[in-house]
Amino acid sequence: MIGGGTRVVGIIGDPVEHSLSPRMHNAAFEHLKLDYVYVPFRVSGDMLRKAVEGVRALNLRGVNVTIPHKVSVMPLLDWVDENALDIGAVNTIVVERGELKGYNTDGLGCLEALKEEKVEVNGGKVVVLGAGGAARAIAYSLAPLASELVLLNRTDSKAIALAEELRRKGWSVRGGGLRREVLEGELKDAVLLVNATSVGMYPDVDDSPVPREVLKSSLTVFDAVYNPIETKLLRDARSVGAKTIDGVGMLVNQGAVAFKLWTGVNPPKDIMRRAVIDGLTGRGESDRGSCGARCGNNC
Ligand code: NAP
Repeated sequence: MIGGGTRVVGIIGDPVEHSLSPRMHNAAFEHLKLDYVYVPFRVSGDMLRKAVEGVRALNLRGVNVTIPHKVSVMPLLDWVDENALDIGAVNTIVVERGELKGYNTDGLGCLEALKEEKVEVNGGKVVVLGAGGAARAIAYSLAPLASELVLLNRTDSKAIALAEELRRKGWSVRGGGLRREVLEGELKDAVLLVNATSVGMYPDVDDSPVPREVLKSSLTVFDAVYNPIETKLLRDARSVGAKTIDGVGMLVNQGAVAFKLWTGVNPPKDIMRRAVIDGLTGRGESDRGSCGARCGNNC
């Protein structure tokens, strides 16, 4: 029941209609009987500054930020943490005594998702596909743990530039093109393959960024795409005997980090995961939108 003392959090983005975050967080608030509510706010680009001031003025506890505002919101905040500055994007705002603080919880979400599946990167070679927002967050979190990280992207120059940026931090990172012959070579001695491209995402569910023939049973394959839950890449990886991890784990864990920042409480991740899966599979309410996860992060 919403009352006078209810704390409000939410998500600002455009679109937000099909975001899974409201159902994920509200399920956790309800389960813990926390007096919080999570609300979607559709905010257009020209209203972003006013909306962010509204977050402060209305004394919201915080908000998630999604496409297209993750980068443009940064200069509107009072403080941005180092990891979010590195990634170059904020996906969570916390209001502390009237100050707006920005974080990016995607990298930690990825690490937690791997930890839950007992995947150890330590000392192994990691191949990350992509050079967009998800790839940046994932690369910054995995590069310090890997013996070597290889970034492969359709647009080679973006992967090469990101690799150079990460090397300046002192990590061993190379960048290159996302092509079959490159994949074939790089995957030979890799322990972990991460798809951080949008290839395979609904509605293009029969696409995969990696030909099945270059996958091996010794790999762990993690796909950041969570709609569909089992992508073609994960299906192919499973069929060759590789360990697979879907993107729901990262989605839930990035949400769990935000939840803890707002409430100070560890959320029930099993409840959040159930809420996300129900949302993706159309169980529970019948409000699944046709865009699915096309709007990207925090959905
Ligand atoms: P983004 O910033 O738009 O980046 C998209 C990436 O995909 C770029 O590297 C792009 O390559 C590549 N790409 C797009 N179409 C391609 C194609 N046809 N062939 C090869 N590469 C292609 O998006 P993002 O925010 O990084 O999100 C990427 C995916 O991760 C989305 O599916 C999103 O839902 C998912 N995600 C999941 C979580 C989670 O919690 N599980 C969190 C964040 C994102 P170019 O540079 O060449 O364009």
